Amino acid sequence: MAKYIKPLCKICRKFGVKLYLKGRRCESDKCALDPRKGKIRLIRPKKMSEYGLQLREKNKVKIYYGVMERQFKRYFEIAKKHKGVTGEILLQLLERRLDNVIYRANFVYSRKMAKQLINHGHVIVNGRKNDRPAYLVEIGDVIQIKSTSKCVKTVKECIEEYKTRTKPLWFKVNEDTLTIEILRYPDRSEVSIPIDEQLIINLYSK
Ligand code: SF4
Repeated sequence: MAKYIKPLCKICRKFGVKLYLKGRRCESDKCALDPRKGKIRLIRPKKMSEYGLQLREKNKVKIYYGVMERQFKRYFEIAKKHKGVTGEILLQLLERRLDNVIYRANFVYSRKMAKQLINHGHVIVNGRKNDRPAYLVEIGDVIQIKSTSKCVKTVKECIEEYKTRTKPLWFKVNEDTLTIEILRYPDRSEVSIPIDEQLIINLYSK
């Protein structure tokens, strides 16, 4: 994951949105942005220029998905070459990252943890070890947690703990075999944080 030296909850307060950077804490009432807390203390930004707003939106998305600038720019370049709405394709590419899929399937508590799982060789894609968190899943891909892996217990605990949390419909999860099958690419509506992607497109189109 990209290295951010600021306290993580402060980053969420700055953006005014839950970015889910701290795993289990993010789902608990200890979260700084938990609505059960009553009045939420946000860090109000100063009045911003259009450029400042664009930069802010880009940084929010980068932090949420845990990608660095160069990689993010590469996603934008790929999205630009695709047919369709560039902003939507950009978000679709980010959603298709292997670490994001593992996280959204509720196999781990955070995207950071998903990256670790993949980097340490616990994930198999289409029958072969895949240690690239940035791998973009394709329709028909089958992703599996190695059955012999020592992380299986933790994955099962996470599934149990998050069983009421909704999962996207663009993949199918088998919680017994710890397998995910990609059925289609994600829709714009399946991106779960509020993002104004047009601001990002405007930023890179200068
Ligand atoms: Fe902190 Fe909540 Fe943000 Fe998680 S979602 S990093 S707990 S403020």
